[in-house]
Amino acid sequence: MQPRGWQQAWRASVREPRELLELVGLAHEAAAVPAAALDAFALRVPRGFVARMRHGDPDDPLLRQVLPRVDELRTVPGFGLDAVGDAAAKKARGVIHKYAGRALLVATGSCAINCRYCFRRHFPYADESAAAGGWAEAVAAIAADPGITEVILSGGDPLSLATRKLAELTGLLREVPHIRRLRIHSRLPVVLPERVDEELLAWLRGLPWPVAVVVHANHANEFDATVDAAMAALRGAGASLLNQAVLLAGVNDSVDALADLCERGFEAGVLPYYLHQLDRVAGTAHFEVGDGRARALHAALVARLPGYLVPRLVREIAGDTSKRAL
Ligand SMILES: *Cc1c(COP(=O)(O)O)cnc(C)c1O
Ligand code: SF4
Repeated sequence: MQPRGWQQAWRASVREPRELLELVGLAHEAAAVPAAALDAFALRVPRGFVARMRHGDPDDPLLRQVLPRVDELRTVPGFGLDAVGDAAAKKARGVIHKYAGRALLVATGSCAINCRYCFRRHFPYADESAAAGGWAEAVAAIAADPGITEVILSGGDPLSLATRKLAELTGLLREVPHIRRLRIHSRLPVVLPERVDEELLAWLRGLPWPVAVVVHANHANEFDATVDAAMAALRGAGASLLNQAVLLAGVNDSVDALADLCERGFEAGVLPYYLHQLDRVAGTAHFEVGDGRARALHAALVARLPGYLVPRLVREIAGDTSKRAL
């Protein structure tokens, strides 16, 4: 693979709803895309992800995750701007320390894809990412707390940073003796598998800690041969792979869709980790699945799948010391 091949693939992402809809054979739907929703949160989808959408299906579960809808413009009580209380748990620029032992590092605000259900629609990333502070402030906060044994790279999407930037960060973290694990939360191996290139793999192989990569796939159709190859390469570089999904109405809110996701993920070498209830942020209410139905779906999964293929159903609550099981 050529150096920076992935950045070219990323730059070539689809940004116009009309083009996206033409590519999936739904050009006639373009007029229904609300400009105000698009202005509030831009459309961005890598072409490889578009290629996995079903042609001619307006209800395609991958399309639904990225296409702006008029529902986003509704104001719904209970859906606000900081649903998970991160603002209160900020330790230093780009460092959120809410849970014992684990510091979450907001490595960057950018992502390869814009998911309509995402809390990121509202987070003030420009000045809040750890990279913006040249890593120094973030690393100093982690170094000052010997209770922190795991660093979680999050965002945005940490793998949207150049590998050189990641290496800069881990070079500093290496000097912190109490770090025992590194975790990377990223949707890139799924939505832009080109990101898993030789340079990234060499970086991973050279890290001094055991590494977990938590990929974020919400539907079995997000996996294809290119994603399988990326997952195999990550595992080959020593990473443990886990999946975290969000329960989303119209995307994966059926027992079949959830079971397929868990089974397909395992075929790619990924174990289910969490199934999240949606963070209640403005513009996402139409994706919400009620708690009663969420519990019923989860119970049906438990009845159908081996225990190791069942994710934990959780919700994030501001001020809690862990994700709360439903
Ligand atoms: C979700 C989250 C974590 C990680 O929680 P796990 O249960 O270990 O996956 C850590 N810090 C913050 C701020 C989080 O939101
Ligand atoms: S943070 Fe994750 S869910 Fe949000 S837009 Fe980026 S990839 Fe999508």
